[in-house]
Amino acid sequence: MPQATKSIYINGVWKASENGKQIDMLAPSNGKKIGAISRGDKADIDKAVFAARSAFEGVWGQMAAVDRGRLLSRLGVKILENIEQLASIEALDTGKPMTLARNDITATARYFEYYGGAADKIHGETIPFLNGYQVMILREPRGVAGHIIPWNYPAQMYGRTIACALAAGNTTVLKPAEEACMSIIRLTELAHEVGVPPGVINLVTGLGEEAGAALSAHNGIDFMSFTGSPEVGTLIQKAAAENHVPCVLELGGKSPQIVFDDANVDEAIRVIIAAIIQNTGQTCSAGSRVLVQRSIFEEFMDALAKRFRSIKVGSHESDLDCGPVISQVQCERVKGFLERARKNGIELIAEGSLDETAVASGFYVTPALLGPVDPASELAQDEVFGPVLAAIPFDDEDDAIAIANGTQFGLIAGVWTESGARQIRMAKRLRVGQVYLNAYGAGGGIELPFGGFKKSGHGREKGFEALKEYTVSKTVVIKH
Ligand code: NAP
Ligand code: MG
Repeated sequence: MPQATKSIYINGVWKASENGKQIDMLAPSNGKKIGAISRGDKADIDKAVFAARSAFEGVWGQMAAVDRGRLLSRLGVKILENIEQLASIEALDTGKPMTLARNDITATARYFEYYGGAADKIHGETIPFLNGYQVMILREPRGVAGHIIPWNYPAQMYGRTIACALAAGNTTVLKPAEEACMSIIRLTELAHEVGVPPGVINLVTGLGEEAGAALSAHNGIDFMSFTGSPEVGTLIQKAAAENHVPCVLELGGKSPQIVFDDANVDEAIRVIIAAIIQNTGQTCSAGSRVLVQRSIFEEFMDALAKRFRSIKVGSHESDLDCGPVISQVQCERVKGFLERARKNGIELIAEGSLDETAVASGFYVTPALLGPVDPASELAQDEVFGPVLAAIPFDDEDDAIAIANGTQFGLIAGVWTESGARQIRMAKRLRVGQVYLNAYGAGGGIELPFGGFKKSGHGREKGFEALKEYTVSKTVVIKH
């Protein structure tokens, strides 16, 4: 287990915060203290940005792309060699079931493998221009990238944003979420062990309003990557705008699963349930609305409810369908949505159940299926970030599109229909960054560009597309 009280890593050295303050870490499964991290602030961020700049102008900037790629690939291998330890840390720290934690660590390794392989395949182009001229478009790293990530998938987020930034030749300063960063500390130790040079990855643990705000407002960064809530996304973008620093923002969603009357119902139900209970609903791309064609609504709900009642919730160790949510605050937030829905007369169609390992001191909520839900109501509009599924009937394609696109979000969507022509029509009309036809989520999809429309954010993470975000073109004109 990492020396968590020295959880700040700058220029290759582990240290406590300059101010000496700490934050306690709690296990969501039972609410008990499992350690403490340093509460870094602006003083630590300043040092981290300075170290990242020096590494960018020095060792990392001068390293051949193939060697950068090799280091990232080596880290991918190292992560897989340590999968059980990393998964145990992640499960304890976030409350997620062990099976999910193992999948997350595998995905984390995949990011380093994928972007390690990509490092020497990022290249520019030439453009035909006037006679006697040659034009080259170079693709260069942006410089120092700032990263602020949430608590829902700490290890995966580390892979998703850090591996991509480094492959493109940037150096990084990362502020993880205060609620869950133990796996990130261990991953950074592994990066050190495989030989990622000092200053290339810098980690400052602490609070969003302190360390996070200092990072996003820093005039020494060249790019900002943020995943979290739309409200904080706005603050990040405003702070970065003061220095004209570009941002990629990934801000969650209210993603619809749209079921037509010709769908393969058994398969749809299996995937729809998995897509709302994975990580106890704390997934930006959770399928939190199920839109069902009115002609099959009753019968579909009966089948969905039957399967929903078999969902089991328990501690991370019990490895059931769901673990606890991340914190007492998140627990109250989710219960608040359910309480208001009850007061507004929305029917609770079915609930999962708590296992005996879901002790009272842990942060547990019971998964809930509610409906029919008015598409304009809070439950159909706002991100709950918990295992709560809102069912909404619709009449035809136009109606389905109006409801699906009728929120402030636009992250991903699933469409269930056997009609090929309808699949294409729906895919084109949905205002979301990813559309799945008779599928959903695709197990992380490291290779697949991912990001939002509207308040789900802008810019793309994952796949080769993300490398474009972390690079910038330079036009070179030569007269010969
Ligand atoms: P959040 O407040 O947006 O936190 C995300 C990250 O931003 C954390 O590292 C946080 O640090 C940091 N942060 C907070 N305030 C900041 C500020 N003023 N300046 C710079 N950084 C700041 O999200 P949350 O509180 O964890 O969760 C609230 C809601 O956001 C959830 O219920 C959910 O609806 C949504 N959410 C979405 C995603 C997603 O994947 N899209 C992920 C998480 C949450 P600290 O947490 O350490 O303070
Ligand atoms: Mg927070």
